[in-house]
Amino acid sequence: MASHLIGSFQLMKSLNRTLILNIIRSTGGISRADIAKRTKLTPPTVTNLAAELLSEGIVVEGQHGPSSGGRKPILLKINSRQFYVAGIDVGISKIRFALTDLDARVLIRKTIPVQDSPKEADIMDVLIQAIRSLSSEVPKGKLVGIGIGMHGIVNSAKGVALYAPNFNLKNIPLKEKLEEEFGIPVRVENDARAMALGESWFGNGAGAADMICINVGHGIGAGILMDHKLFRGRHGLAGEIGHTVADLNGPLCTCGNYGCLQAVAAHDGLKRAAMREISFGRKTLITDMISGDESKLNGALIYQAAIAGDELAADLFRQAGRYLGTAVTNLIHVMNPSKIIIGGGISKAGDLLLDPVREVVRQRALDPEAKKTPIVASGLGDEAALIGAVTLILAEMFSVQYKHQTELV
Ligand SMILES: [Zn+2]
Repeated sequence: MASHLIGSFQLMKSLNRTLILNIIRSTGGISRADIAKRTKLTPPTVTNLAAELLSEGIVVEGQHGPSSGGRKPILLKINSRQFYVAGIDVGISKIRFALTDLDARVLIRKTIPVQDSPKEADIMDVLIQAIRSLSSEVPKGKLVGIGIGMHGIVNSAKGVALYAPNFNLKNIPLKEKLEEEFGIPVRVENDARAMALGESWFGNGAGAADMICINVGHGIGAGILMDHKLFRGRHGLAGEIGHTVADLNGPLCTCGNYGCLQAVAAHDGLKRAAMREISFGRKTLITDMISGDESKLNGALIYQAAIAGDELAADLFRQAGRYLGTAVTNLIHVMNPSKIIIGGGISKAGDLLLDPVREVVRQRALDPEAKKTPIVASGLGDEAALIGAVTLILAEMFSVQYKHQTELV
């Protein structure tokens, strides 16, 4: 048999296997006969692949399903506690780790701070030590993969962090180094994209084929899911909405340009606007709360002031929300998603931030349907990027579309 035929046979087998796994996972338990009906695969194909999955321990036979007259069929279920996944969210000041089961339930979590101006070797050391410690908690061979959500620009096909601006590091070969160290698959994705995937599987994006998830924290990034697939663009830059221009005469951004969205609506933008108002003599609770120490000023503190009734604090979120709302309107006009999810540290302000976003979209979106685009908070909160990182591995195990995307592109 020609090698390309063997290749396509193996690919077909692997796609069928993923198809079956996905149906078992999404139904929570299903008989072999019903799998054959739903997938249109022949019963012997289903029986053979099910036997393979049972022998690997990834699937177990569960309780009997309802009988349609004869013997009650045995249901196949995912053996979610048989295998584990490590998820990592590499933020700018800390790295979060989680060990989860195959349902993305977090069994162990840990957070390690990142030192200032780390070297590549420092980051790799932290990652290797933490993964080693997580994998020591499960039986040998049961950790099936490592998913990483990384801030900055990522080449996900090669698993390389091309540019991590806050570390000032370039070309970190995460996948290559960690696969060499641990001998299991490692997948790397930009953190906002990992969040979008996590939200679409386990959060507020469930069922949405076209969805955009925006991470608003120290920076602003978006993960774009179109037709259930992550959209990355030619060089992995798609979704970098933090560096789209929000105000031509706006303040300097970390990227060197002026007036970027994140320079006015993310952490530093809020902080800068607060300090300007205070310097103009505006009365605010924030003055007492920071007692002269500007370094104490952050999104969480401004939120506390806002819920204590401080007008300036509420104004700051309203203004950030309006800038964000303009960016969201632009995104709606470019991608026309069915839903927008907003997560990240600043989004903890909830409706203080989201209501102005919704208002701008209602005012500016082109037609009645676009004006109604649901804009909701992240369902996974602080752990959205972490669960998203885990989902990078799960999606490859369980989703035909995702597998197809990663194998063939
Ligand atoms: Zn910028």
